[in-house]
Amino acid sequence: PRDINIDVVIIGAGPSGAIAASLLHQQGKQVLVLEKQHFPRFSIGESLLPYCMQFIEQAGMLEAVEQAGFQFKNGAAFRHNGTYTTFDFTEKFTQGPGTTFQVQRGQFDKLLADTAVSQGVEIRYGHQVNDIDLGQNASSTSILTVTDEHDSVYRVTAKYVLDASGFGRVLPRLLHLEKPSNLPARSAIFTHIEDNITDASFDREKILISVHPSQKDIWYWLIPFSDGRCSVGVVAEPHLIEHCQGDLKEQLWQLLNEEPGLKALLSNAKVLQPCASLKGYSANVSTLATSQFALLGNAGEFLDPVFSSGVTIAMQSASMAVETLIKQLDGNEVDWQQDYAEPLMQGVNTFRTYVQAWYDGRFQDVIFYDDPNPTIKQMICSILAGYAWDTNNPFVKDSERRLNMIVDLCRDHNKAS
Ligand code: FAD
Repeated sequence: PRDINIDVVIIGAGPSGAIAASLLHQQGKQVLVLEKQHFPRFSIGESLLPYCMQFIEQAGMLEAVEQAGFQFKNGAAFRHNGTYTTFDFTEKFTQGPGTTFQVQRGQFDKLLADTAVSQGVEIRYGHQVNDIDLGQNASSTSILTVTDEHDSVYRVTAKYVLDASGFGRVLPRLLHLEKPSNLPARSAIFTHIEDNITDASFDREKILISVHPSQKDIWYWLIPFSDGRCSVGVVAEPHLIEHCQGDLKEQLWQLLNEEPGLKALLSNAKVLQPCASLKGYSANVSTLATSQFALLGNAGEFLDPVFSSGVTIAMQSASMAVETLIKQLDGNEVDWQQDYAEPLMQGVNTFRTYVQAWYDGRFQDVIFYDDPNPTIKQMICSILAGYAWDTNNPFVKDSERRLNMIVDLCRDHNKAS
């Protein structure tokens, strides 16, 4: 390939890259996506939140997603020591979509990327970004060094770079923006199974989050797909699962069997692919965006998988970055900190409050509380459905204080009864 010159280059064709590319293309901007792998490729992160459907619609991809035959999802279910509780996402405080899908990411990401291509976006698969030169000053064009699958090296000169490289974290690494996460390093072990679940009460339209019976900060996901399969995984700090022997499959099964509900549900399950593990995936950065580049989705901060917020944050960041970038490309003054980073972090920080409170037990007390105030439940439900940027919701705007207020109420009530 020959060197080229373009308005915007996007690194990575996952959900954040595909949505950003489509939105920019719609606005008449020249955009090129460089993706190092070939699709479909496996990715973890299979349970979507209703809020992200708005971005899929904005990008003109809703029809394609609705017709793809993915598993319909309308909420989240939680279980701990026999207590089972559900959140129906259609019963939420904030207006907007209340349902979504549980998706095999190989298929889903390919669908979004193919739809972007059908709209006119160019995606180059097998092209890996290896280096960046930001030029002399803050208004310089940037030059990316790219290697294609035949090991040919070429350069892309762009007015702006969107890093949508996910856990590849291309710009954070190349520009030394990486910062440790303030969350402890946790590990996840996971696989796909043919679930063979016969229990008629099992709700395939919800993600099931189960809590370990004696260790509250170990939890499991069970995400049903539409084809009789499920994604299953466990998350824990590594020292808590040191007692597990054998290979990843044996470790995963030992941990699943420690939770009686899952043990019963999955007694006939058949593992379909090698178990995989990810360690220390939480990450942060010192800078999210400048006049030359912005980090989208996981290339920026990644918190934790417990509330399935990853793809939603990825798409929200794509939509917000594109809005700011269009202004800049059209010659307007923009402040990337104020126009992009701060509003994005509003929602990320809301999720952070609830993630931290999940692991220290406060939010679990709220989730498993058996007599919730209906309005408060709708406000919590909004956040679980992904609406973490709606500052009309007091549990978003003032998350820590509001949460602590209801934690106290739930704990007082539990003590009294
Ligand atoms: P990705 O989807 O990771 O895409 C990045 C792309 O960039 C990849 O295709 C990669 O090949 C490409 N790339 C990387 N480096 C380069 C390079 N040098 N050059 C060119 N291309 C490159 N999220 C949810 O929403 N729901 C869940 O249920 C959920 N569960 C999770 C469970 C676990 C254990 C973990 C760790 C995460 C989970 N997530 C979940 C988070 C989710 O995986 C991510 O947030 C989401 O995939 C981010 O999308 P993205 O577009 O930022 O990046």
